[in-house]
Amino acid sequence: MVAMRPIIIAANWKMNSTPADAGTLAATIAAATNAADVVRVICPPYVCLAPVREALAATGVAVGAQNVHDKAAGAYTGEISAAMLAGLADWCIVGHSERRRDQCETDELIGRKLARCLESGLRPIWCVGEQLEEREAGRAEAVVRAQVARALSASGLGGGEGAASIVIAYEPVWAIGTGRTARGADAATMAEAIRGALQESGWAHDAAERVPVLYGGSVTAASIAEFLAEPAIDGALVGGASLKPDEMAGIVARAAATAAARRAAAR
Ligand code: PEP
Repeated sequence: MVAMRPIIIAANWKMNSTPADAGTLAATIAAATNAADVVRVICPPYVCLAPVREALAATGVAVGAQNVHDKAAGAYTGEISAAMLAGLADWCIVGHSERRRDQCETDELIGRKLARCLESGLRPIWCVGEQLEEREAGRAEAVVRAQVARALSASGLGGGEGAASIVIAYEPVWAIGTGRTARGADAATMAEAIRGALQESGWAHDAAERVPVLYGGSVTAASIAEFLAEPAIDGALVGGASLKPDEMAGIVARAAATAAARRAAAR
């Protein structure tokens, strides 16, 4: 039997907060979201990692970075390697659509970043998702499956390597920061397709089934329930709402209820 997947709520603060105020915001969110059964992760900007880590030290909330370089070290001015994040972050977002759009990140580059994360003990939150035109053309699943296959192939990770560490966030690009959300059922179908794509890339069935798939795209306390009602979805990557303690409180409360219900059903 495949082990139960954890429920994860990850906050992507994007380019918001400063070292002066990030610790207070993180501590407020931690206090508002106290739920033992939910894995909580806050991903602030690099310069806020240290104060946020300090503020979260005794809270059980983990810290993540929003990006990492694909090389281990070298002449890459202004960049941050996975090894540099040691002691500052335990998680790292990889391949966010804003970076695919603004920094022209490719699946191949993203695959190499996945490998750097795993080498350094960082848990990657690997983002995939289709554009609106691709969904409207009926190609959403093919696009996302291809993203998974290309990145895994470039990562050099053999079949199932990193299965215990990798988390995938399905984030339809048209839903990010727009107030539009996917339907829960569509997100669940995509989560199954993603696990199928992992198997097509050589992962064993059990390894693919162990990978948590989160939904991301304008999640709020009001919209999270539809996604967590789907057994294939294991939480959310939250952007705009993750800066609001009340929203995070509602999202994590629903996640805790889902975790309890899934545990009871598995008995
Ligand atoms: C994100 O940045 O990953 C995201 C999902 O943003 P938002 O919730 O604002 O759509």
